[in-house]
Amino acid sequence: MLRYKLIIFCILFSIVLNAQEYEYNYTFFTNSNMSGNYFSSRIAAAGNSSIRNIDHRLPVNNLKYHTPGNSLTLQYKNAPRGKWSAAIFYREKRGMDHFKKINTLSFWVFRTFSTVQLNELPQVQLMRRDSSLTSSFTLEKINANKWEQVNIPITSFIGSADYQPTDFIAVVFSFQNGREDSEHVLYIDDIEFSNAENSGTVTALPVITSASNGYAMHVDITWEKITDKNVRLIKIYRSTDGKKLSLVGVQEPYINRYADFHGKTGQQYFYTISLLDNNYRETKRSKFVRGATKAMTDEDLLTMVQQASFRYYWEANEPTSGLARENIHGRQNMVASGASGFGIMALIVGTERKFISRKVSVERFTKILNFLGKADRFHGVYPHFLDGPTGKVEPFFGSRDNGADLVETSFLLQGLLAARQYFSSNDPEEKMIRDKITAIWEGTEWDWFKRYPDSKFLYWHWSPDQEWIIDHNLIGWNETMVTYLLAIASPTHAVSPTMYYSGWANQDSTGIKYRSAWGQTTDGSMYTNGNTYFGVKLDVGVSTGGPLFFTHYSYMGYDPHLITDKYTNYFRNNQNIAKINYRYCVENPKKIKGYGDSAWGLTASDGPFNYSADEPVAWQDNGKITPTGAISSFPYLPEASMKALKNYYFNHGKFLWGEYGFKDAFDLTNNWCSDIYMGLNQAPMTVMIENYRTGLIWKLFMQNPEIKTGLKKINDLQ
Ligand code: CA
Repeated sequence: MLRYKLIIFCILFSIVLNAQEYEYNYTFFTNSNMSGNYFSSRIAAAGNSSIRNIDHRLPVNNLKYHTPGNSLTLQYKNAPRGKWSAAIFYREKRGMDHFKKINTLSFWVFRTFSTVQLNELPQVQLMRRDSSLTSSFTLEKINANKWEQVNIPITSFIGSADYQPTDFIAVVFSFQNGREDSEHVLYIDDIEFSNAENSGTVTALPVITSASNGYAMHVDITWEKITDKNVRLIKIYRSTDGKKLSLVGVQEPYINRYADFHGKTGQQYFYTISLLDNNYRETKRSKFVRGATKAMTDEDLLTMVQQASFRYYWEANEPTSGLARENIHGRQNMVASGASGFGIMALIVGTERKFISRKVSVERFTKILNFLGKADRFHGVYPHFLDGPTGKVEPFFGSRDNGADLVETSFLLQGLLAARQYFSSNDPEEKMIRDKITAIWEGTEWDWFKRYPDSKFLYWHWSPDQEWIIDHNLIGWNETMVTYLLAIASPTHAVSPTMYYSGWANQDSTGIKYRSAWGQTTDGSMYTNGNTYFGVKLDVGVSTGGPLFFTHYSYMGYDPHLITDKYTNYFRNNQNIAKINYRYCVENPKKIKGYGDSAWGLTASDGPFNYSADEPVAWQDNGKITPTGAISSFPYLPEASMKALKNYYFNHGKFLWGEYGFKDAFDLTNNWCSDIYMGLNQAPMTVMIENYRTGLIWKLFMQNPEIKTGLKKINDLQ
């Protein structure tokens, strides 16, 4: 649990300089995911001045924009002895911490009023991290009724060239002491820091490659990968007749796919794209390609979600390693071990369902295993994060976390051991895959992580220079059951099966204290629980069972039907945890907007204010809906999961569905939808849907002879 608190800490305080990392534009606004108001904005007004707002945030305009699909409306009234201001905040994304060098604040503005009296246009300032404001720059000479780009040198705000983009957290428009009754409307779009001197033109023409047929409400459009560094955005157009064009949206240059969620079934479309350079100059458009939507069965919907999430690992992977990124958008060079293990299972599903051929899948696994064979390991255990290009540990969560992460490694091995069974042919390449996985598995020194010879517990981390400094012992109930199961099953570095009860299910003061601390309750602090929540008796679990990822991460390969200990059977227990979560959301004690029988599943995800591991209990219910919660619970509550899937896609797909399936989370109370996909959340949807449909990954993983033996050792203790 500590992990999730660490994440926030480390995003704020880790400063890692790596010249090779992809450098993002520091962008305050391109488009709002949601209609209505823009979440990352704030307004204030005093005296007779005013600014139009929705719940103290700026209105989003979906009809008038510079880049499709929207802009922000600045509708203000300047009055004597009055003032107003509107701040548009930079929205931090985890791992998005390398930015282009900049010298200019740039934005586009559309002025609707034709005559401008002196001092009727707002002034612009930047907000620093401590909320103080820089000097102001007053807008003048904006032509009416057309989009105009405004470029302001950063030095005119601070009088110095000594700054980083991240020194500034918002762009602030404001006005003080205007003329009586002077009311105006401006539209503002594409607010970002740019480097005006380095704006080359784009010469190549875009090549659109396909538009899909067969999804109910959206069409997937793909194009050839963009390599020209001068491309700022890809602009997507749709047409119903191949002549009249509608603007659809824009995409970042490092993604060559766009999901056009138009929301109509049984439609034919033509698509074309163009490229925008850093000054938003547009190339000619590509040729048209044809796409269509069509009705889908429930089975088709399942496959659609599986395939979209699979793409996160297949086509948006870190290229050197072939493994998974932590989140998109985020660090592009960084590989996340646990998410990669989940991704490996998603790649197997993708191969079996023929999203990719077995041949290219074998090529990918060969690349993955060549990388893993050379990457940093500590007593055979991988770190949480690796740098893809070098294979070196990436201490993204801070300098103490610069060595082994046993839990992430167990997620990785869960995937690898499933793959060892999947690639079962006599083909030399498949044999090589098996041999390399076996070498990793047998080289993993689980017993080192006991720390003491007579230890009751496994320990989460070990650092080569700071050893056990993080000092986090593994105690259930949480996501780490698979770690104990693998450690007991190891053919070379096994720990005693008694650690299952002494460590994972520990019932002495250490375990009680640990569970009570994160659960904020004594319910389940003995590992066993026994209480009934929302009419469901919970055998094992802290509080009301915890976030739903506890029922997913350890059981993507490990079939919970087969795990029965002194206290419960873990399929049944997981099913009960899912039921409690479901009934909590249906009952909805905090009256959260959107919760119900088709929007449930509190778990760990991105949030409007921070990343949090939500649980079905008031103090840990942060009001966000996380698609992976319900959808990865398909094996436990298939009907309720399908209802959620349909609600998310058909009713919320306009903002929630993207190129890699469902975005991480949304929050209707705050009119917010995440901009990111997370490596730990996408693959469980692909894999757990497959386990529900065919049991494929469960079967593969459980075929490993060491796993069968390990499980028997635990069963023999009873
Ligand atoms: Ca826009």
